[in-house]
Amino acid sequence: MSRLVVVGAGITGLSAAFEWHRRRPDDEIVVLEAGDRIGGKLYRVELAGHWYDTGPEAVLARVPEAVGLVEALGLGGRLVAPATTQASVVLPDGRFPLPAGTVLGVPASADDVSGFLSPAGVDRVRAEASLPPLRLDGDVAVGGLLRERLGDEVVDRLVEPLLGGVYAGRADELSLTATMPALAAQLARSGSVLAAATAARDAGTRSRGDADGPVFATVTDGIGSLPEALVAASRAVVRLRTPAHGLRRTPGGFELSVGPAAAPEVLPADVVLVTAPAPKAARLLSEAVPGAAEPLRGIPYASMAVVAMAFPAQDVAAGSGLLVPPVTGRLVKGVTVSSAKWPHLAGETLLVRSSVGRFRDESELQRSDDDLTAAVVADVADLLGLSRPEPLETRLIRWGGGLPQYLVGHPARVAAIRAAVADVPGLGIAGAAFEGVGVPACIRDAHRAVDALLGRAVAEATSASGISGCPPLLGSG
Ligand SMILES: Cc1cc2nc3c(=O)[nH]c(=O)nc-3n(C[C@H](O)[C@H](O)[C@H](O)COP(=O)(O)OP(=O)(O)OC[C@H]3O[C@@H](n4cnc5c(N)ncnc54)[C@H](O)[C@@H]3O)c2cc1C
Repeated sequence: MSRLVVVGAGITGLSAAFEWHRRRPDDEIVVLEAGDRIGGKLYRVELAGHWYDTGPEAVLARVPEAVGLVEALGLGGRLVAPATTQASVVLPDGRFPLPAGTVLGVPASADDVSGFLSPAGVDRVRAEASLPPLRLDGDVAVGGLLRERLGDEVVDRLVEPLLGGVYAGRADELSLTATMPALAAQLARSGSVLAAATAARDAGTRSRGDADGPVFATVTDGIGSLPEALVAASRAVVRLRTPAHGLRRTPGGFELSVGPAAAPEVLPADVVLVTAPAPKAARLLSEAVPGAAEPLRGIPYASMAVVAMAFPAQDVAAGSGLLVPPVTGRLVKGVTVSSAKWPHLAGETLLVRSSVGRFRDESELQRSDDDLTAAVVADVADLLGLSRPEPLETRLIRWGGGLPQYLVGHPARVAAIRAAVADVPGLGIAGAAFEGVGVPACIRDAHRAVDALLGRAVAEATSASGISGCPPLLGSG
């Protein structure tokens, strides 16, 4: 029997604990959590009599990890598909339904964006055919490449709102290889963005085969209910308010220094899996694995706040929600109309969530809770054209360091971190900082780490899928 210590009780740490327990039921599992609750970014609140997610509110259902985990926990009956996924983009010249068939906003043809871009913008997309063949030399920024090949409108009106929804990041800084791996893989052989988007879209359709089910899913009592179920199923001992702040290698394994810095405790471990966000992981590994600490420090985070609101029931014609890119000058970056999007949330009240804050654009987060909440409510009421704009209830949740930014060069940073950690037997690292910020990607990374720590080859189906696991519409509000 050995002791696995997992650092961090987010979805990555808890799904790793569950997977480990399934494979090695006799091992002792200790999960160290710096905060005073489990779940990390998974968090639900009570709003107008419903469990309401204020972190992730939808998971990709066309990849197996999240849905599979819910089923493995015996909670498959609580999975629910959206009633609508039709979202619109708010732009300075109006509101436009999100075009179908793009690859995270990258069109496969000019026709895909006709009516969404201006006639000149559509012509600019069509004109890619007359540009010299594209040759990429290493990783590039999504924005730079697309501006050059397809024009500014594709970026400012379409790609930016979608990437903003997933990463709270900037298209001009985000890595093409890390945020659009399927497109990047096709670009290497296609010679043009439109051809690569066509190939990536067709490959996606082929790999789904007949599995034409819903793209997204959620859990009726909240994705935020999963952490508790995972702890119960993994029989892990969770220690709250117990940060790990030092790691030392010993002849038989490791010693972690844990608990309050003033009165640390030494916790021996045979195996250690670090799932804390990159800056915390960097600090923890700085002495034992300096080769990982430096690239970990190179992964910055965006902070944001989510406001959950319940209004009196009223008609709203916004489908599942609105994406609100920076070109609008609006405070909020997205609105999710949860009571329209999810059948189990429909009823007596209009339930809406909205988020504020993007990478390098976090000044509004300095406002007081009351001020920020009131400003978000006003912006949302205006965007949705509410006839009864006084909320019945609101909740503000701040996500300092909410989402890692996969900046240009991210894949090389991840490779360096993985290589340095792999040099230390019995040590693993996983989480949202590496190969996908979405919940399914975090679960996949947790399973990859467990495979590696148990000495098994990573299952081909997961490692070679080439998808980032970032749902295109997640986190829009
Ligand atoms: C507002 C928001 C909306 C989102 N929406 C979606 C969505 O709809 N769908 C989707 O798929 N994804 C969504 N995401 C992304 C997804 O929720 C996260 O990327 C994912 O939950 C991160 O999980 P994690 O376990 O890797 O990290 P975390 O959840 O950050 O967990 C890490 C844990 O480590 C703890 N910790 C830190 N330092 C230490 C230490 N030294 N010792 C011990 N513990 C430590 C932290 O307190 C934390 O609990 C959203 C994210 C945010 C912020």
